[in-house]
Amino acid sequence: MDSPLASRCTSPGAAFRRNANVGASMRRMPSPSPTPAECVPRLITISAIERAVTACSACPRLTKYCGEVARTKRRAFADQDYWGRPVPGFGDPQASLLIVGLAPAAHGGNRTGRVFTGDRSGDFLYAGLHRAGFANQPTSVARGDGLKLSGVYITASACCAPPANKPTPVELARCRPFLQRTLELLAPTLRVILTLGGIAHDQLLTTLGAARRDFPFGHGVRYQLHGSPYILLGCYHVSQQNTFTGRLTPAMFDAVMELAKPAMSRENKT
Ligand code: SF4
Repeated sequence: MDSPLASRCTSPGAAFRRNANVGASMRRMPSPSPTPAECVPRLITISAIERAVTACSACPRLTKYCGEVARTKRRAFADQDYWGRPVPGFGDPQASLLIVGLAPAAHGGNRTGRVFTGDRSGDFLYAGLHRAGFANQPTSVARGDGLKLSGVYITASACCAPPANKPTPVELARCRPFLQRTLELLAPTLRVILTLGGIAHDQLLTTLGAARRDFPFGHGVRYQLHGSPYILLGCYHVSQQNTFTGRLTPAMFDAVMELAKPAMSRENKT
């Protein structure tokens, strides 16, 4: 029989079904969603984290926003079914490079259900990963499009699309256990962490218990964190605001990948 914690770490749908047994007056009262902090001790594989993220509804503002975007849609995607839920990480569960982004885009990941998929940010990122030899194709348009990553796993600082691309500090803190658990499960193979933008950089440092003032974000920065086996690299975010203005070019991204490659080999774990 499951422990009380186990029973709370199932999907909101499962919680709703359990309530069907407690009487008609309670049938429309789903149990409160477990928080990521409650769930993560039981998540022992990367795919279990991905399932838990997808079922999470711990941030009411983000849950509501993702659902609204999925209902109202953008005109160009009016005939599509939006994902409209938290977006789990994607990639190789034995990755030596972890890429941490900010959050899914409202009409990108929140539409397609895969990080950096179906928008210009993803076009830039996966083309760069393909040039670097980590992706089998340069495009990422939808789940099931055949994209595979080798040696790389991608996740977000907050796994739900936020209004104006700005998760609040509380929402970032609430989602942090998922990143923490991802780091723990990738640890046997992980060598390098690449943060895309300052918010992801701060989220990663806080997750690792490192002082942000000691490792300031910048494009192309490379740190060996005290007491941590990982090399930390910084890169401007691959958003349109950066890639359309030339603040981040393909050549600049390629240069960061060249920093990552030598540190990704097993021999370089200290
Ligand atoms: S941002 Fe993270 S913690 Fe908040 S609802 Fe989404 S998946 Fe859950």
